[in-house]
Amino acid sequence: MIFNSVNKEIRKHRGDDLAFVFSGADMLVANDSVPIISEVNSLLSKNGMDAEGDGIFFGMLDDSACYLFALPSSFEAEGWEVAAGDGLGAYQFVLLRHYVGRLDPVINSAAGYASHLLHWHKHSRYCGRCGAENIWYEKECAKKCPSCGNTQFPKISPAIIIMVMKGDEILLAHNKNFPEGRYSLLAGFIEMGETIEETAKREVREEVGIEIENVEYISSQSWPFPDSLMLGLSAEYKSGDIIPDGTEIVHADWYTPDTFPSIPGHGTIARKIIDEYTKKNKS
Ligand SMILES: [Zn+2]
Repeated sequence: MIFNSVNKEIRKHRGDDLAFVFSGADMLVANDSVPIISEVNSLLSKNGMDAEGDGIFFGMLDDSACYLFALPSSFEAEGWEVAAGDGLGAYQFVLLRHYVGRLDPVINSAAGYASHLLHWHKHSRYCGRCGAENIWYEKECAKKCPSCGNTQFPKISPAIIIMVMKGDEILLAHNKNFPEGRYSLLAGFIEMGETIEETAKREVREEVGIEIENVEYISSQSWPFPDSLMLGLSAEYKSGDIIPDGTEIVHADWYTPDTFPSIPGHGTIARKIIDEYTKKNKS
C-alpha cells in the first residue's frame, strides 16, 4: 500500500473512497482502519454535511481517494453509532496520537497528513500580512491571499528527541505533563538559528543540567499533533550532575534496561529508540 498526497487535483469521490472523519482531535476508525465514505454518509448528513461539498480531497491510498471531514463542534460522540445506522457499532472515535501504533503504517501516514492538514486549514483562514480571507492555492498544498498575493504553506515544527547514554545506562525523565510514573527521553523544539546539535545540547542542559557530546542522528517520525516532525538522536554524557529544571522535568535518572520505569507505548519514536538500545545492549 502506498500513500501519495495530491494537492487539490479535482477528483470526484466514490462511495468506496476513504473518509478520515475528525471530531476535534479524535478520528473515526473502523476495526483499526479507516471507514469508506458510503459507510459514514449518514453520520455526515446527520451533521448537516455533504461528502462531496464538505470533504477535502488530500491524497490517494493506492486507488482509493482520501477525503478529510471535520465534524462541527456541536457533534456529540455519545450515541452517534445508533444515529449513523446499522453495523457501525464497531466504529469508534480515537485520539489519533494515542493510536499511532495500532494503525497500519501507511494508513497512519495518511491519517497524520489529514490531522496536520486539518489543523493548518483551521489556522490559516486569514492572510497573516493583510488580514483578508485566504483561498486554496490550486497548484500546491497552500493558500493564497486574493488581496495581497501572499502565499501560505503548512507549518511543520521540527523537534528533537534524544537518548543520552552513560556507560550502559540511559537518561529517562518524568515530565510534569506525563501520566504518573511515565518516563521518556528528553525532547524539545528547535529554535530559530539553531542547528540540530545545538538544540540537543541546549535542551539537555536546560532540562536536566548536564553536558553532552557526540550527538548522532538515529531516525525521525512525523508527529502531526498538531504539526511536529520529531528527529530522534543519541548522545553521550560528558559532564555534570542531573538537576531537573522543576518546571517541565520533575525527575530524571540513569536507567539500565533491567531497571526501566514505565516507558512510552509502541508506535512512538521514543519507544523505538529505547527498544533498539535495549536490543543492542542485551546482545
Ligand atoms: Zn493578504
